[in-house]
Amino acid sequence: MFVNKNMRKTLIKIVALIVFAVGGWWSAASGQNARFDDWFTGGTLRVDCLREGSAMGDTVWVENWVYRPGGWFGSRTQMIDPFDNGDYRVEMRDAATGRVLYSRGYSNLFREYKDTPEGKTTSKQFQETLLLPRPKGKVLIALQKRDKETLKLFDQTVASFDPEVDELVPCFMITTATPDVPEPAVAYEIHGDPSVKLDVAFVMQGFDDDTLYYQSVCRRMAEGFFKNEPFRSHRNDFNLYFIRGNVGAEYNTFGSDRYLMTLKLWSLHWWLYDTPADHIIIVVNNKKYGGGAIYNFYSVTSLDEMAEYVLPHELGHGIGGLADEYVDEDLSYADIHRTSYEPLEPNITNLVDFQSKWQSMLPEGTPVPTPDIDVPRKENGPLGVYEGAGYSAKGVYRPVMHCMMRDYAPFCPVCRQRLEDIFKLYTR
Ligand SMILES: [Zn+2]
Repeated sequence: MFVNKNMRKTLIKIVALIVFAVGGWWSAASGQNARFDDWFTGGTLRVDCLREGSAMGDTVWVENWVYRPGGWFGSRTQMIDPFDNGDYRVEMRDAATGRVLYSRGYSNLFREYKDTPEGKTTSKQFQETLLLPRPKGKVLIALQKRDKETLKLFDQTVASFDPEVDELVPCFMITTATPDVPEPAVAYEIHGDPSVKLDVAFVMQGFDDDTLYYQSVCRRMAEGFFKNEPFRSHRNDFNLYFIRGNVGAEYNTFGSDRYLMTLKLWSLHWWLYDTPADHIIIVVNNKKYGGGAIYNFYSVTSLDEMAEYVLPHELGHGIGGLADEYVDEDLSYADIHRTSYEPLEPNITNLVDFQSKWQSMLPEGTPVPTPDIDVPRKENGPLGVYEGAGYSAKGVYRPVMHCMMRDYAPFCPVCRQRLEDIFKLYTR
């Protein structure tokens, strides 16, 4: 076990209130970014949660919290998440007024588990870790999820957190399985202060020593990261860190051979206990094809010869919250976007509310939907509304014939735009 139970008992002073009320007045005061210095100390509060359930329902609760020893590495001006994306959202609210001080959308592995054959009937626990700006005063931490039908967010659990009551606890004190503090990550490519850069932490699994081979893999990953637009021309917006750590990433997640993920979120964040990590990429030292990524959760790649293509595609999910633009009707959730509500992801549409998507970017006279045309595999082709996306062959549409999110072509203009908008969330 990662957490020492006795210590945990004495440390946890969070009262979790399960509230199933529809999120309403809490969020009413949101929208305006709180002044960082008025509300936050400059440190980081790490909150470990457990989510338990199946397709029939789930609950989530705060299991543990710690102050990370270092500072707050996220933005100090962009406290409110402007994107309505991710299946879940965390909000930190001022306890006295309900004002939203900080928010971020994200997704998780449970979201996928519940659609698997096992997840339809069998309840299972999943770890989640949230990195939040450390508050000066009493706050509420609301974990929100989306209503299945309307995709609207509602409060699933609210925990109250009072910094006055608790002592500072550096997080390495609560580990027992791996009691030593990990080696600090290597600051590999630094372009500026972490609070105005998108900090990417590469966790290198299965590399025991700092060999020439290890160094060559780090180089390959760093160059691969910046190989594609819009990453290439935004190189100065990023800091890259590398650390060796075994974080339990395994193939065959949910029975899919190439789906390479870890369930050990708390362990993953323990390895990064003091490393700036707006996004985490796990690199598994294995030549077998595989990878995966979840929005604002983490991305994974192996080292097979396709890694240069797999990594940017997965970053599209992990950093951009982009949908797959390919068709795979064999998937059990292939019809996930054929609904009466517009999907959340910016790069697919079911035409329920196309105005909210890339309609304004279309050249005048573009037919909607747009008939397929012949375009070389490595090119986007003209912007349009092409049928076949988000796993469905029918009823879901994508912006171009070929995109990184479909078949490893360059990111299309819609995907590029969202990625650049997200970069701004970290660099201002
Ligand atoms: Zn795209």
